[in-house]
Amino acid sequence: MAGVSRAFVTGASGQDGSYLAERLLADGVEVHALTLSGEVPEFLPADVVLHRGDLCDVAATRALVADLAPDEVYNLAALSSVAASWEDPDLSAAVNGGAAVALLESAWRVAQAHDKQVAFVQCSSAEIFGEPSESPQTEATPLRPVNPYGAAKAYAHLMTGVYRSRGLHASSMVLYNHESPRRSPRFVTRKITSTVAAIAAGTADELVLGNLDARRDFGWAPDYVDAMVRAARHEQGDDYVIATGASHSVRDFVAAAFEQAGVSDWEARVRVDPALLRPTDPTDLRGDATRARTALGWAPTLEFTDIVKRMVETDLALA
Ligand code: GDP
Repeated sequence: MAGVSRAFVTGASGQDGSYLAERLLADGVEVHALTLSGEVPEFLPADVVLHRGDLCDVAATRALVADLAPDEVYNLAALSSVAASWEDPDLSAAVNGGAAVALLESAWRVAQAHDKQVAFVQCSSAEIFGEPSESPQTEATPLRPVNPYGAAKAYAHLMTGVYRSRGLHASSMVLYNHESPRRSPRFVTRKITSTVAAIAAGTADELVLGNLDARRDFGWAPDYVDAMVRAARHEQGDDYVIATGASHSVRDFVAAAFEQAGVSDWEARVRVDPALLRPTDPTDLRGDATRARTALGWAPTLEFTDIVKRMVETDLALA
């Protein structure tokens, strides 16, 4: 924490950006955020200094980073939906891969110009393991992405290691699915909790989903943001798997959400639409966060049932 006065956050309009900004502001850090649209994101605290820009505009972003000379850089920007990466593979490559590398170089240049430590945190994803060769996955599990999103994230993950070898304090956080009431309904958990709440309130009839058998390691988003900050402030950069260590199927999530909402006889309300199935979809992602627990003193604070409970409660209140 000593000496950290300014942070630069990309992708601040997403779920994690709002939690990260809250956390950094609470630590007394001046937070600068890059946003694509220029609109004030829904959950982002007002004290964040917003800069409108496109991370893919390398020259403009580089000039902004040079001007701010931040102590910490958090790269949260991504085309964050695996499903969307099939529709726009080159945009996924540009944002999730190329732009991350350009930002690493920008951070490196600030560190050189000011002869100071700039901690870089890359938000990577369990999708880099794709259909993994072992379970649970660790930092040593081979990268084997199965979709454009995962392949682009794998490139940025590897380049974070390259910059670390070059001397940058760079960490890649291999984040497993992490959820909260701020999750967009484009993701399955929030789609489930918002629809279940609507069914409980009598404003929706059915929940239409794709693959119910996929198993994911679902964690609590604020815990994952805490891991990012711990990595930035650790003596050196490293790669970290951030996960709870337990996986649950999409079907498990559906059952838990209906139970939480007090809806029985829900099976008939759930329909599978083959159009929502993905060309390839990892069957079971489960992470072993031993390194983060040991080196960073990190631990998840909420487990599966509590996460479902918090999300359903919020959506019931909204419904
Ligand atoms: P991801 O793991 O980062 O792709 O997060 P998602 O929440 O988008 O998807 C998690 C899992 O839920 C994947 O295996 C999806 O195939 C599965 N899934 C099943 N039905 C749906 C759906 O209707 N929407 C989404 N987004 N995912 C679904």
